[in-house]
Amino acid sequence: MSDTFRADLHIHSTYSDGTFTPKEIVELAKKIGLQGLSITDHDTIEAYDTLFDLAQEAGLEVLTGVEFSAYHHGHSVHILGYGIDITHQPLIDFCKSHQQRRRERNLKMLEKLTAIGMKIEEEEILRLNDKSTGRPHIALAMMNRGYVGSVQEAFSLYLGEGKSCYAKGKMFTMVETVEIIHAAGGIAVIAHPHLISPPSLLREVLKYPFDGIECWYSRFSPEHEARWIDIADKKGWIKTGGSDFHGAVKPQTPLGCSWVNRECFDLIKKGSS
Ligand code: AMP
Ligand code: FE
Ligand code: FE
Ligand code: ZN
Repeated sequence: MSDTFRADLHIHSTYSDGTFTPKEIVELAKKIGLQGLSITDHDTIEAYDTLFDLAQEAGLEVLTGVEFSAYHHGHSVHILGYGIDITHQPLIDFCKSHQQRRRERNLKMLEKLTAIGMKIEEEEILRLNDKSTGRPHIALAMMNRGYVGSVQEAFSLYLGEGKSCYAKGKMFTMVETVEIIHAAGGIAVIAHPHLISPPSLLREVLKYPFDGIECWYSRFSPEHEARWIDIADKKGWIKTGGSDFHGAVKPQTPLGCSWVNRECFDLIKKGSS
């Protein structure tokens, strides 16, 4: 049966900006015939409090994961950590620092919105999510108040990087993020490399000693995937893949639309053990 194995390794739950709980993700994964998964919430590993038991019950294999928001020379780079020890205290503390960073940054953005007549209370975003709260929740609160017609509009006019109500806040570097993932026994993987810009930044990031790169992503075409597969092969990096599932807020990328096979799943597991 090994040839039918599929594992989606890029999934967001209600612990960050997804709309499915870990239980709902496991149920859906089972229903669509996946055999393995990794929940990679933004800057938090809280989904793992329940995920192991849920997955075991459903007969699914789990690889621990997280997607950290990091910066390199002021530019955003998302880094996936797989096979991390979720009881590693420095990793838990790092996630806590991220939550603090998020809170401070969110408050700055709410202040900027208030200043242009779009008042939103912190409580309104915490009601949507009090775990790893971020811009998608602010965008939803803006929609709820009728300030914008869609989440996309909120990002393109106000919350996107460099837009009028965007705030960077504290930044954790790519280097320290990779170090934390390694200290927790995991492998550090460049997430959705096509989103890294400008091109000079991508070139620099690709020179950094990562362990892997996300080659199968969302609805990438085979031609697009080939570029990252070629880089992984040349560098001897581990190849990973997943849908970047966020549930109802991103219906265009359903669970399981990208995945890794048994061989890749085992290589990632081995690379992080
Ligand atoms: P944050 O981590 O709070 O900075 O928010 C980043 C998250 O917002 C990303 O992981 C995406 O899920 C979402 N996002 C980023 N850009 C957009 C966009 N243009 N439209 C909708 N969602 C977006
Ligand atoms: Fe997200
Ligand atoms: Fe990401
Ligand atoms: Zn993601």
